Amino acid sequence: MVNLAVIGAGIGGCSAAYFARKYIPDSKVTVYEKENSIGGRVFTFNWDGKNSELGAAFFNRMNKTIWHLVKEMDLKVKKLGESMDIAVWNGTEIIFRSSQPLFYMMLKLLSKYKLSVPKLLLSLRTANEKIKKLYKKEEKLTEFWELFESVGLDKWYKMPFDQILFQMGINRKFIDELITPITRIIYSQNAKLGGFAGLSSLLGVYGEAMYSLKAGNEVLPKKLLKASEAKVELTSKVKSIEKTSKDCFQVLVGKKLSFFDGVIIAAPLEGADITFEGILKQKWQAREYQKIYIRLMKGEVNLRYFNIDANTKLPSVILNSKEADPITRFSINQSTKSESLVTITSTEPIGNDLVNDLFKKGKTILDHTWRAAYPIFKTIQKIPPICLDNGLLYLNAIESAASSLESSTFAASRSIKILKEQLCS
Ligand SMILES: Cc1cc2nc3c(=O)[nH]c(=O)nc-3n(C[C@H](O)[C@H](O)[C@H](O)COP(=O)(O)OP(=O)(O)OC[C@H]3O[C@@H](n4cnc5c(N)ncnc54)[C@H](O)[C@@H]3O)c2cc1C
Repeated sequence: MVNLAVIGAGIGGCSAAYFARKYIPDSKVTVYEKENSIGGRVFTFNWDGKNSELGAAFFNRMNKTIWHLVKEMDLKVKKLGESMDIAVWNGTEIIFRSSQPLFYMMLKLLSKYKLSVPKLLLSLRTANEKIKKLYKKEEKLTEFWELFESVGLDKWYKMPFDQILFQMGINRKFIDELITPITRIIYSQNAKLGGFAGLSSLLGVYGEAMYSLKAGNEVLPKKLLKASEAKVELTSKVKSIEKTSKDCFQVLVGKKLSFFDGVIIAAPLEGADITFEGILKQKWQAREYQKIYIRLMKGEVNLRYFNIDANTKLPSVILNSKEADPITRFSINQSTKSESLVTITSTEPIGNDLVNDLFKKGKTILDHTWRAAYPIFKTIQKIPPICLDNGLLYLNAIESAASSLESSTFAASRSIKILKEQLCS
């Protein structure tokens, strides 16, 4: 019997518990979560019978681990891409709209941005092939940086995204007008962010359709945790982890000490407030995290604000290329002729004056702040170690390169396989 602790019940921790049941069947798992709820940065808010994703909103088929877990949990998916009408607003007018026929749209893009468009598509395809190889090599290497280097993906996190794009011959206008709004909608950061995070932003929305779960994304971590049969301790903040002997970890929650053969940290250490004792390596470096504000509103959108003709249909998502504007995303979740349910994402709180400009009339349904939504992605030479010590794994190390449902579940699967090798062989 292997006794394991998982710290954090976000998608990472819940999938780690599930993978432990699968790959180490004789394991006994305890999941500690400091909040009174499961899901972490996956947060589905139901209002008036309609789900709004206020945390992780979508994934695609290229996200192999997530896709596999969704299928294993027998969950129904909802395709977003086809019905999504995406518009890019530059602070003055709509400069791009995806609802136009594909042929017309491509012609327009080519005439405006010339060879930047095919160059970008080609480099995304090449990068995508490398990501596929990364999954194949997964079993052979331990650390993420080794994996990334082995398939040539490391260059992406070693340089700022816009610099890599310049080197590929992609022009500034294209980056400012179409790439920046995508990195802003995904990570609330401009195209100068770490290259792999930029690449993930584009791969998240390019080509493949996007999906979410019909019953709400929050169902996935909940189902995984249930299937894992782990013991779940909510409102249980882990205060410290101490390695007491070669093969034993002592975990302190409140005043209670528990002992484990292995520990998986499935929460960013920057906000986890955990102290360590007797850990051999402990090589993680604190990162800065992006704070974002989400406001869910119902009301009549003022189309004139976006310079949209009164007779034109509202797009389903408005991206914003104007970097000085704190609003990074304006998503219309549901719309009737007179009223829409809208999620506004911003890097600063939205004042009432702006709300009055955005809506002819509207009311706030929910305000939610993510104090640490995702790292402020910087260039790095190496992804920090997943293996903090023998038997102590740190899943969110991968967030230095990119933060997503896929990165957390992929890291969860890796960490359980590493633990199996360390503890069971
Ligand atoms: C607004 C927003 C939109 C996003 N959109 C997308 C998207 O569309 N697609 C996508 O793939 N990704 C998206 N992401 C990123 C994605 O949500 C995260 O990368 C992923 O959910 C992280 O999961 P995690 O389990 O690693 O961490 P978390 O979800 O942060 O889970 C960590 C858990 O650990 C708990 N915890 C922390 N410290 C302790 C402690 N000391 N003791 C016990 N418990 C502790 C926390 O309470 C939390 O529940 C988005 C993120 C945000 C914020």
